[in-house]
Amino acid sequence: MVRDCQLEQRDDGLWYCTRPGCNLPPLPRRMARNCAVDRQPAGVASSNLQSSISTRPLVLVLGLHRSLSSCLAECLERLGVFMGRQTEGGECQRLRYILEAVMRFPRCEPIVRCSDRGALRRWLSDHFAAAGERLAGAKYPHLCRLAAEIEAIHPDLKLIHVARPLDDSIESLVARSARATGLHATREECETLQRSLHDSLREFLRDRPHLRVASENLLRFPAREIDRVIEYLGLDPTPDERAAAIEHVEPARGEQ
Ligand SMILES: [Zn+2]
Repeated sequence: MVRDCQLEQRDDGLWYCTRPGCNLPPLPRRMARNCAVDRQPAGVASSNLQSSISTRPLVLVLGLHRSLSSCLAECLERLGVFMGRQTEGGECQRLRYILEAVMRFPRCEPIVRCSDRGALRRWLSDHFAAAGERLAGAKYPHLCRLAAEIEAIHPDLKLIHVARPLDDSIESLVARSARATGLHATREECETLQRSLHDSLREFLRDRPHLRVASENLLRFPAREIDRVIEYLGLDPTPDERAAAIEHVEPARGEQ
């Protein structure tokens, strides 16, 4: 729980993490003692991990729930971009696990602790290693809110914003929630969450270069939009890979 934290005992007898931005709640002495092995001076292990992270860019696919960002992430996989060892909807399952621990669907306010930042660093290091020579990328709706956490570890990002009108995204998430399977949320929760992700993402993208792909354009002109993505990322797919990416958009048309 307090892995990667730097704990310090204050006058009230409780232990606090002294690292900036850590949301670890104050710990009673007994719990801190149990975690004694983690009370190391400033993270040597962390800086080692940092140096093992690639010098190449990481692609982030950013979009609200139900924005077609999964569709685009799966297109990237077909174009040879590594999105994770185990992916579902273009989402790396390990990254999903880390981000859901920080902000459990449908909550909007993340609780980020040093252990979460450590988990992200370790994931990213492994992610690049597994990618090998391929360009590496990541996609998860929470990244609308948490992209800055990735940027703090690896500033060299290539950002793709999959943009769908907010109201459509809300209605689509409400409709998905009404189905028996998958993540469930009330209408109010869906609306609050999508608005929160929308506002966070707009703020994050305000002064950062990125490629905007309107979901409507992706559906109507898949070849044109896939070519924009290929050019933006500097990819060199085979004709078959390009065709597979374009064809992948087709089945998504019925799912809006
Ligand atoms: Zn901490």
